Amino acid sequence: MNDSKDILAVGSIAFDTIETPKGRREKILGGSSTYFSVSSSLYTNVSLIGIVGKDFKRENWDIFKKYNINVDSVEKSDGLTFSWGGKYNHDFSKRDTLFTELGVFEKFKPNIVNSYNQPILYLGNIQPDLQFDVISKVKKPHLIAADSMNLWIDLFPEKVKELIKKVDIFLLNDEEAIQLSGHNNLNKIVSEFLSYGPKIVIIKMGSKGSVIGFENEIIRVSCVPNVEVVDPTGAGDSFAGGVLGYIAQHGLKNPVKAVMHGTAVASFTVSAFGLENLYNTQLNIVDEKIKEIKIL
Ligand code: AMP
Repeated sequence: MNDSKDILAVGSIAFDTIETPKGRREKILGGSSTYFSVSSSLYTNVSLIGIVGKDFKRENWDIFKKYNINVDSVEKSDGLTFSWGGKYNHDFSKRDTLFTELGVFEKFKPNIVNSYNQPILYLGNIQPDLQFDVISKVKKPHLIAADSMNLWIDLFPEKVKELIKKVDIFLLNDEEAIQLSGHNNLNKIVSEFLSYGPKIVIIKMGSKGSVIGFENEIIRVSCVPNVEVVDPTGAGDSFAGGVLGYIAQHGLKNPVKAVMHGTAVASFTVSAFGLENLYNTQLNIVDEKIKEIKIL
């Protein structure tokens, strides 16, 4: 990992209650930055910015420790940790949010230690104002990547467009991209987002793979075939972890390969509940999976 860039990420750390056609789990460790950090720690040193409550137990901290994830900028507060419940339909094509309890997240003001060495900054799907706040507080990031979600596009579409202008890499899923742009031609959406300024735009399409735009190219990449989906929660964050992990090691010269890494890492996440399968993943197994992914 010596020549790699470090990664600094902000997002949610959560307890999730998840119902899928394959079963149910209650109050398991989740959150966008948990999935992201465990995934990207396969590639490089990762630090987190975030907040947890008094219900966050030693065994939860131990997960970050096990993956060598630096939590110096994770605040421990008196309230309860952010918690989220989601339920998937019979074929995983739809997810309903059952509850969102912000807890300590409601008053979250990122307090950043700033001893990081020009990191790649990843802004997970939190409120755009918090993403802007983190951008203004992190000194000289090597590059900035961001994701968003339907909730923020509903509430603050102009701020999400502002965010695209401030980042080098922008990721979004297909439904959200359609929602934000107001039309459904994905190639046109990618070109439109690229015209705001990022070097790379990636639209995630779940089991249909992804579309990547960079320079004058727009390329489609498949998903990993024949994966038995158990719980898709965190797929997007694990994907981002694989993409940025690869970029931390190799730079921006091969965005398609970076997307293949994201695709492979996400395939481990979705094949078990929560982080169960991601915990056992290693880079050599990711490399094997990549052989199954096709450029379309
Ligand atoms: P994904 O499946 O990629 O959408 O990510 C799911 C993760 O996002 C879950 O572990 C949730 O805890 C977390 N999450 C859900 N809603 C929010 C929200 N409004 N803000 C931040 N994180 C959220």
